[in-house]
Amino acid sequence: MQVRIWGCRGSIAAPGPETIRYGGNTSCVEVRGDHGEVIVLDAGTGARPLGESLMGDADPTRRVDLLLTHLHVDHLEGLGMFAPIWSPEMELHIWGPPSPIASLDERIATYFSPPLFPVHLTEVPARVSFHDAPREPWTIGSIEVSAQPILHPGATVGYRLESDGRTLAYVTDHEPALGTDLDAAGTSWISGYALAHRADLLIHDCQYTVEEYAAHVGWGHPSVAHVAAFARRAEVDRLMMFHHHPDHDDDQLDAMRGEVLSGWPVEPDRCIVAAEGAEIDV
Ligand SMILES: [Zn+2]
Ligand SMILES: [Zn+2]
Repeated sequence: MQVRIWGCRGSIAAPGPETIRYGGNTSCVEVRGDHGEVIVLDAGTGARPLGESLMGDADPTRRVDLLLTHLHVDHLEGLGMFAPIWSPEMELHIWGPPSPIASLDERIATYFSPPLFPVHLTEVPARVSFHDAPREPWTIGSIEVSAQPILHPGATVGYRLESDGRTLAYVTDHEPALGTDLDAAGTSWISGYALAHRADLLIHDCQYTVEEYAAHVGWGHPSVAHVAAFARRAEVDRLMMFHHHPDHDDDQLDAMRGEVLSGWPVEPDRCIVAAEGAEIDV
C-alpha cells in the first residue's frame, strides 16, 4: 500500500509560516492499494487538494472508498470540496461509525446541507452510498479492512488495513489513557490495541504535550507520553505522529517527536512527524 498525507492537522486548519513544514490542512490520508484501490481516510480540508489530484489522473479512478473515523467537522469539512463528489462518473462509498441516534447519511447531512453548505447531500452528482462500518472485517478490492470503536467523544472508530501481509493502522482522535494506565493494563483493556497491534505503520493522534494534557483530560486526545506507551505496548514497527494541535508550530512538533522517542526508545527513523505531501510505502 502507498500512503500519502494530504492533511495532518487536528481540530482546525492552521496554515501559515509557522506550520509550513508539516502543513495546516486537517485530516485526510490517501491509500493506494496494489490493485488500484483508492481509499481515503477522513475528509478534512486536505480532501480538497486530494480530490483535484484524483480527478487529474490520466485515467481517473471510478471508485473511491472514504473511511470516516467520526463526524467531527475537522474530519468532514473537506467533503463538499472533494471533486469526485461532483462527478456523475464517480462511485463514492462512504463508511463511518454506526450510531443508534441517526444514520450515517443523516449525520453527514447535518453539515452537508443548508444553511451550513449550499447543496444538500442528496443532490450531489456522484453515486454515493453510505455504509455503517461492519463489526467484522470486510474487503475493499484486495485490502482487508477492520474497524473498531475507540475512546473519543461521540461514535468514533479506528481502522486497520491489511494487504499482502502488510498492515496500516489509522487511529486518530484517540485518548487511550483515559481511565487506564497504559503500562499496567492488560492488552485487551487498551482502546485501539487490536487495531494497532504489530502494524507496519501506525498513524496516531499526537495532540498534546504532557503539560497540555493535564488540562484536557477527557477531551479525546493523548499526550506524547501516551502515544509512546501505546506504540510500545502495541509493538508497532513505525509510528507517524498525526492530528497536530493547531497551536503547535513546526519546531514544537520536532520537540514533541523527541519526547515520544524518549518514552519509546527505538531507532529514530521509526518515529515520523506526519507532514503534508509525505508519501510512505507500507
Ligand atoms: Zn479531529
Ligand atoms: Zn474528534
